Amino acid sequence: MRNNKWLYASLFIFAAFIFLIFFKHPIKSAITDDPEFYVSATIETEPVPSLGDAADDAAIWYNKANPSQSAIIGTDKDGGLVVYDLSGELLQYIPDGEFNNVDIRYNFPLRGEKVALVTAGNRGDSTLGIYKINPRSRRLENVASREIKTVAPYGSCMYHSRVGGKFYYIVNSKNRTVEEWELFERRSKPGKVDAKRVKSFQTSSTPEGCVADDELGHLYIAEQELGIFKYSAEPDTNYNRMLIDITGEGGHLTAQVEGLTLYYMKGGRGYLIASSQGANEFVIYKREGRNKYVATFEVTAGAGIDKVTHTDGLDVTSFPIQPYFPEGFLVVQDHMNDDQYHQNFKIVPWDIIHKKLKKNILSRLM
Ligand code: CA
Ligand code: CA
Ligand code: CA
Repeated sequence: MRNNKWLYASLFIFAAFIFLIFFKHPIKSAITDDPEFYVSATIETEPVPSLGDAADDAAIWYNKANPSQSAIIGTDKDGGLVVYDLSGELLQYIPDGEFNNVDIRYNFPLRGEKVALVTAGNRGDSTLGIYKINPRSRRLENVASREIKTVAPYGSCMYHSRVGGKFYYIVNSKNRTVEEWELFERRSKPGKVDAKRVKSFQTSSTPEGCVADDELGHLYIAEQELGIFKYSAEPDTNYNRMLIDITGEGGHLTAQVEGLTLYYMKGGRGYLIASSQGANEFVIYKREGRNKYVATFEVTAGAGIDKVTHTDGLDVTSFPIQPYFPEGFLVVQDHMNDDQYHQNFKIVPWDIIHKKLKKNILSRLM
């Protein structure tokens, strides 16, 4: 009798062990299917002017002199660029072309001044749009010195090298070509910006969103169906890349992988955030090291603002903007603004995400 008891106990432990091993994968994918936490937007922008699938990407301009007067630059890929204030009100619409991705860098030397430079890829004619922010009017001013033809743009981003001090526009195409263009003031046209191609390479499948880490010298490229890769952002001949995460089984992403952005923190730390469009999710990785997975979240409805789905582009800033955004904010494109035909952008204060992130990390330790 006593022996049988031990036999049953051993059998039970063995069966439990097999059960755990066998179901490890389904448990893992269940985690992939459900986000670790939900947040809601606190502000949404006015819709973009064009109808249907038009809003695409955003870039935040931080106004150092007057943070509450910062702005959000968005793309209307059927019309041009839009500029919003932090309450989401439209400040400017520039119907300059079919811009789909937009990015910004500070301290670009132009006519003896240091300006915030904005670039956007125009899918209409495969050109590079270059603007500077007028900090007083918060309006964009075209500073392109000429019509600069690039590869047919799909995703694009900027890089300011800490190595050589130069500024770059990085653009990728559906044909898998990635081009890196150096941006500089044209001597014969003071106050105007020109560009020259310094690097070109191929990705393994269709690329989309990209983001460069100015401090660490990395370039992250999302391949829509595959995952996220990390390259050197320097205009050198180093084409080595590292896989950060994949779509489907074993990964945390659901195709298509779209926009990427970086949340900068002290000491080279922070977060890389990706739009995992197929799951209506956002995936957070560490900015440092091998970009370890941190968590997945969704932006659900709340405070009278509809939920965010199918996000293309996004941007985040860690600059504090009192009193609404003490740790900065995230801005994301939303595929469907309520049931309207005009898309818009949603804003989530980073401290809300940070609190949920902290709670989630603590709950995993218990
Ligand atoms: Ca962008
Ligand atoms: Ca929505
Ligand atoms: Ca809405």
